[in-house]
Amino acid sequence: MKVIVIIPAAGLGTRMAPMPSAMDAKTKKPHPTKQFTDLGGVPILIHTLRRFAAVDAVSEIWIALRENEIEGFRERLTKENKDVLKKKVELVAGGEHRQQSVEQALNAVSAAAEDIVLVHDAVRPLVTAEIIHDVIEAAKKYGAAIAGLPAVDTVKQVERTSEGAIVKATIPRAGIVLAQTPQGFHYSVIKKAFDEAAADGFTGTDEASLAERSGHEVAVVMGSPKNIKITTPGDMELAEFYLSRR
Ligand code: C5P
Repeated sequence: MKVIVIIPAAGLGTRMAPMPSAMDAKTKKPHPTKQFTDLGGVPILIHTLRRFAAVDAVSEIWIALRENEIEGFRERLTKENKDVLKKKVELVAGGEHRQQSVEQALNAVSAAAEDIVLVHDAVRPLVTAEIIHDVIEAAKKYGAAIAGLPAVDTVKQVERTSEGAIVKATIPRAGIVLAQTPQGFHYSVIKKAFDEAAADGFTGTDEASLAERSGHEVAVVMGSPKNIKITTPGDMELAEFYLSRR
């Protein structure tokens, strides 16, 4: 049984910085896309890849990148990141949306029905070996599993207005889990879910939502508040802090 990891890393990350084509005043180079932003001297994506490369159970890593970043990244891995290349690593062109990026990789992998496919955001570099392991084991047992975090804040349903939002209801917190990645599946489960979503023109914000609509139960294992998805500049400060404490 193989464990195949798919890392969607083809986003522009416009909530982090101006459009990546804009020039950085300091370096005089184009702003890097979010996954290539420097975190403690190393691109976020490399941190993430190292986490998975260090897990024995992982067999291969497929990375979906923006087309124009593939060649440069291949060179970088060969020259500077041999630690990642101890696994089989494949680079594919991503798509317009996260789901399309995952789909491109999924269409390229060769897997048996019972093999495990893990999908993990490139921009969650603080994932731990324990979370990866727990998601793999739960995916083997249940066919579909995600890392999730119980909600600690009170959750409100709102209606957006031109000036902000108005609360419409309070959702009982006990029934809420915030979905993180990795999300793991038997290959047969995720492939069927993606094929059905493509046929119906459905776009979800994570892989589990596709498996759910395909009628598959999805188990939840404990994620971590440190397994943050770097989205805004403030998240970078938090990630730097957590990294410095390791
Ligand atoms: O945009 P968002 O924060 O949801 O991105 C989550 C992950 O999906 C990031 O790792 C990002 O690079 C990736 N992504 C992608 N292809 C896209 C958009 C996002 O691989 N077209």
